[in-house]
Amino acid sequence: MTSIFANWSGLLTSSPKIIRSITNVDEAKEAINFAIERGICIRTTGSKHSHSPILQNSGGMIITTDDLTGPITIDEKKNTATIPAGMKLSSATKELWKHGYAFSNQGDVDVQSIAGLIATGVHGTGIQHPSISSLVNDVSIVTADNTLIQAAKTPDILEAARLNLGLLGIIVDVTFNVVPRFHLHEHHWKEKIEELIKKVDTLVAENDHFEFFWNPLDDMAYAKTLNPHEGPADSLPDQKGQYIDWAHIVFPSERNERHTEMEYSVPVEAGLVCFQRIRSLILKGNHRIHWPIEYRTVAADTGWISPARNRNTATISIHQGIDEPHEPFFREAEKIFMDFKGRPHWGKRHYMTKENLASIYGAGWEKFWKTQQKIDPDGLFVNAYMQSLRLE
Ligand SMILES: Cc1cc2nc3c(=O)[nH]c(=O)nc-3n(C[C@H](O)[C@H](O)[C@H](O)COP(=O)(O)OP(=O)(O)OC[C@H]3O[C@@H](n4cnc5c(N)ncnc54)[C@H](O)[C@@H]3O)c2cc1C
Repeated sequence: MTSIFANWSGLLTSSPKIIRSITNVDEAKEAINFAIERGICIRTTGSKHSHSPILQNSGGMIITTDDLTGPITIDEKKNTATIPAGMKLSSATKELWKHGYAFSNQGDVDVQSIAGLIATGVHGTGIQHPSISSLVNDVSIVTADNTLIQAAKTPDILEAARLNLGLLGIIVDVTFNVVPRFHLHEHHWKEKIEELIKKVDTLVAENDHFEFFWNPLDDMAYAKTLNPHEGPADSLPDQKGQYIDWAHIVFPSERNERHTEMEYSVPVEAGLVCFQRIRSLILKGNHRIHWPIEYRTVAADTGWISPARNRNTATISIHQGIDEPHEPFFREAEKIFMDFKGRPHWGKRHYMTKENLASIYGAGWEKFWKTQQKIDPDGLFVNAYMQSLRLE
């Protein structure tokens, strides 16, 4: 019997032959045997928050991991935490806090699964802070030949696993570098966009985390800084737009209104010029867009297919409601992003072909796919969308 499987926005659906929930390594192995016997492809899912067709798997098997959870293991000597792959970030950060630890950075929301976070290179904001994938120390994976491997034993596999697009196997846990828990001081304010733009470079340089949203409806910016705070949460005099709490409480926001999204990473030096081009596109009024643009920064890393590979990065996200047309706007915006050597977020919409991506990532693209093909030679985890992108 086929079922309908949809992502969070509801805009991307597929009809897998089977949807199976797993809770442990043995069930992951059973699921792999089941799929191999029937000659069907597997896609493993977390919180389904991706906007790209990365999870679609008509005729194949969708594995859900909401119950692939359990205790966190802390190594106090190494400052690492090993976290079950299906655990939601919100639960993981609470558990870490109980042990005295935290993630050094987080994204906008904390609803993603642990494996989903690293599979698409999720990031927060902060020019000194690389993506969450860069914090990964080891990954336990049940691979297509039905063995449980530790990625850290093989440098190439660890590199591919850090940002893996769900293509290496079923991830059962991930080990991250973590930091002692800390407080964050949030300051948010509203300001005319042209005034804010003059200060963005300084705000990026002088704050641990800075981001802004530009709202096309009122042409105003909604800016936010977050900085580590020494001392207790109540040590701040009552000031408008400011508060202090534990980092895992301050980092995430509510993003409940269903939407779809495109995000591109551009070199940070070009970030504001690129932002202004996208803003002008919206202001021209050819597309009915009442959703904000989000502007963040990410530190360079060395990930093979990381959007921040070898360059400090500004990320620019555009959104559209699920009942409004997004493609004409996103395609026009993508042309602008390409003028700035943009690289798409793997969990969001883009229209790049494999030729585009090979040229964006060069040797990193080839290394990623060669490693993927070594671990999964028959393409058990490669859905039709990924086939359209893979290196032949
Ligand atoms: C409201 C909202 C806010 C967002 N905020 C941010 C943000 O601040 N920063 C940012 O960078 N992105 C953000 N995103 C994008 C989102 O965080 C990513 O798409 C992320 O990968 C989603 O995690 P998930 O658990 O939902 O994974 P899914 O969407 O379910 O899957 C994503 C990938 O992970 C793989 N995967 C999941 N579990 C496993 C497993 N156990 N084994 C192997 N592969 C697995 C899947 O195969 C797929 O390739 C946001 C998205 C939404 C909808």
